[in-house]
Amino acid sequence: MQDTEYTDGLLKFLQASPTPFHAVAAMKQQLDAGGFQQLKESEIWDTNVPGRYYVCRNDSAIIVFTLANDPAENGFRMVGAHTDSPCLKVKPNPEIVNKGYFQLGVEVYGGVLLNPWFDRDLSLAGRISYVNKQQQIINELIDFETAIATIPSLAIHLDREANESHSINKQTQLPPILMKLPDAEKHKKASPDFRELLLKLLKKEHPETDAEKVLEYELMFYDVQPPAVIGLHQDFIAAARLDNLLSCYTGLISLIEAGENANCLLVCNDHEEVGSVSTSGASGSFLKSVLNRLCASPEQYARMVDGSMLISADNAHGIHPNFADRHDNNHGPVINQGPVIKINANQRYASNSETSAIFRHLCDQADVPVQSFVVRTDMACGSTIGPLAAAETGVRTIDVGVPTFAMHSIRELAGRWDGYYLYRALREYFK
Ligand code: ZN
Repeated sequence: MQDTEYTDGLLKFLQASPTPFHAVAAMKQQLDAGGFQQLKESEIWDTNVPGRYYVCRNDSAIIVFTLANDPAENGFRMVGAHTDSPCLKVKPNPEIVNKGYFQLGVEVYGGVLLNPWFDRDLSLAGRISYVNKQQQIINELIDFETAIATIPSLAIHLDREANESHSINKQTQLPPILMKLPDAEKHKKASPDFRELLLKLLKKEHPETDAEKVLEYELMFYDVQPPAVIGLHQDFIAAARLDNLLSCYTGLISLIEAGENANCLLVCNDHEEVGSVSTSGASGSFLKSVLNRLCASPEQYARMVDGSMLISADNAHGIHPNFADRHDNNHGPVINQGPVIKINANQRYASNSETSAIFRHLCDQADVPVQSFVVRTDMACGSTIGPLAAAETGVRTIDVGVPTFAMHSIRELAGRWDGYYLYRALREYFK
């Protein structure tokens, strides 16, 4: 795959994936088109049959694997990433009417950089659970697609300190505004019933649905501005959710392209941004359970683990020219100079000298530049799914990622070339 095809595919994937549910659905679509077979956790698996498979959990996490030969003999070449991104999630009883405006109460999911969420054209998407005429509970994905809400800033005339010090009250200052209620309704203090709005949208998107009532939902606001390649020389990709859909996409296309000569696996977990402790998170049982089913005995499992490796891919912080003092001078990854090996002596990253050497060699073989990141010694270090997956499974692991700016903003920035470099390294690995 050439770089232009890679970049076009990435932008389309980002656009199709406003939520982890949609990201998994978009991945399933590509896998179905590529001839992969879906396995259900509830079914009996015939794991002696080589082939290409995927399994989903909670509609928001996915494990894709190619089974070429005995895992106990050859292990798995694994890549890990996460499907979730920090965002604003709608509360269960969200309706707010204030000064004649209809707003929705929101929770903050993960470490959102809140300022960039103001003055954006927001839409809403996610999963709803409804009951139908047969009293069955059905899950369905929905997406308003158009801009239906916004969080306007307070004018600087009413907040003269805005550029010097500005803090945001998450309870009172974040609820997005959806509409100005007609005057008559303002006096009645009536507001639209949010679940009825969702039912209407569901019936519009799926005219054949027999949904009677929306019971529950997990809905996230997102920015409708499409992803774009920007810069005087098109050096950058600007988009929401680059952390970590860039790694999901790159892992996916690398594995699809790899063919069927080696045991390869991609795991994309949910809930990384909130600590990974869930059925679909990296601290949960998903990966271990799937690997267990692919090995006939505990001894085979242990042999598979020893013969495997996991490349955990999650974005890194590039050194920002306006804030260069936030990096160690010798470990400031530069955008478009290749994927980054993340090192932390206190095991906030799972990389060790052995796995780092393997990845560095892999990049050399793929003719891809590679960089190292260590956080400033006087600053706290972030973490990701690498150490958790390593501890859960025992598989030797490395944490890598492409350098980015504005991580956890509603619009992040990555290098045009770094994702493509990562793709070339993973393609070499899976080969
Ligand atoms: Zn991340």
